[in-house]
Amino acid sequence: MNRPQSVERMIEIIKKLPGVGPKMAERLSYHILKMPQPEVDRLTDSIQKARQIMKYCSVCYNFSEQDPCQICSDAARERSTICVVETPQDLIAVSKVKDYQGLYFVLGGALSPLDAVGPDDIRINELIKRLKNANISEVIIATDTDSKGEMTAVYVAEIIKTLGIKVTRLGYGLPVGGDIEYADEVTISRAIAGRQEM
Ligand SMILES: [Zn+2]
Repeated sequence: MNRPQSVERMIEIIKKLPGVGPKMAERLSYHILKMPQPEVDRLTDSIQKARQIMKYCSVCYNFSEQDPCQICSDAARERSTICVVETPQDLIAVSKVKDYQGLYFVLGGALSPLDAVGPDDIRINELIKRLKNANISEVIIATDTDSKGEMTAVYVAEIIKTLGIKVTRLGYGLPVGGDIEYADEVTISRAIAGRQEM
């Protein structure tokens, strides 16, 4: 027997989420079907609301309910240092490190020639524009430690150096090939303390 069309459609949509294979999509779909209606409403409402409220901060491109975001509008932060990360999730990971009190910039990905992701597909131009318009003395590059992240770090560093701004890369301690998002606070804190000039 074929699955009813409405269930098939739900599975097809859930399958498109990152990290969700066909089996998992099927499991989640049948789980949702069994959930009480109020719980399903809370799930769909929370998705709808977050999607409607959240926008990109026009300064750092983090997701935020306000523009500029809380970090960019926080006068107590040290405004001469910017930490460059790939994703908003990476920013959250670094922001847990209390000894870093500078600002951020979210690239929105990493260079990846194999996936046809070039410099114009991530926010390199926006980063340069921001660096030119602000008084920045150091850029800390905290892209992932996989090959895409390393390539991006080198590419971005070369450009930033031409602006006469000091560029550093997170130091050792982070697992090679790792995603900043999943690194713990102590590891990131050490990596920031041990950052090296590029
Ligand atoms: Zn911001």
